[in-house]
Amino acid sequence: MSIAIENVNKTFGSFVALDNVNLAIKTGELTALLGPSGSGKTTLLRIIAGLEQADSGIIRFNSEDITGQHVSERGVGFVFQHYALFKHMTVFENVAYGLTVKPKKFRPSKADIAKKVNNLLELVQLGWTADRYPSQLSGGQRQRIALARALAVEPKMLLLDEPFGALDAKVRAELRRWLRRLHDEIHVTSVFVTHDQEEALEVADRIVVMNKGRIEQDGTPEQVYDNPANPFVYEFLGNV
Ligand code: ADP
Repeated sequence: MSIAIENVNKTFGSFVALDNVNLAIKTGELTALLGPSGSGKTTLLRIIAGLEQADSGIIRFNSEDITGQHVSERGVGFVFQHYALFKHMTVFENVAYGLTVKPKKFRPSKADIAKKVNNLLELVQLGWTADRYPSQLSGGQRQRIALARALAVEPKMLLLDEPFGALDAKVRAELRRWLRRLHDEIHVTSVFVTHDQEEALEVADRIVVMNKGRIEQDGTPEQVYDNPANPFVYEFLGNV
């Protein structure tokens, strides 16, 4: 699934959160939206997801104009920093959730759901946690379960908002490598938000640097780090 964002604007009151943003993301790419706090990264992600409407501009999925379409019709999987797992459900039930709430017509059989959930738990290497509750897992393990849950509904696109945000440095590093590996296996078009330059460098195929609602630079990690487009990018990347 490719994504095109064309002339997208978004204001909150008099505050300009997105200022005429244009961006094209190719199918299968793992893209980082990188920038300081308040630069509009989450707003852009939410507009792609359909959780927020742009004031003007167009969003296309595979060239088709889907501007204004409801989030449930967009086929996206989410992983948010604060998007906690359901505490009262086991890991298995959490991952199965998206499948069990499908309308009857589209709902897989119990056996198919079990097979799928177990495969996903194997994919994130946490098969042994199926009967546990989220509180019995580490932060990194919970985030991997959140990824498995997002993948259960076979999203055409995976959107991740600071997916490593609340974790300590060692777990973050592990999870970064792990996300990269997972992406290489399943190739789903993915966009993740981060304010951490190293994270973007290590994980992404492509880095989009944002500041004050605008895209300052867009390219491979090598292009962005070797040739910063302007003083802002140069300074922002300076401490890597
Ligand atoms: P980032 O993800 O880069 O930190 P955001 O997209 O979250 O930036 O936010 C950009 C700015 O827009 C922030 O300063 C924030 O206060 C403002 N903003 C975001 N969402 C809302 C909202 N629903 N209402 C008012 N202001 C908002």
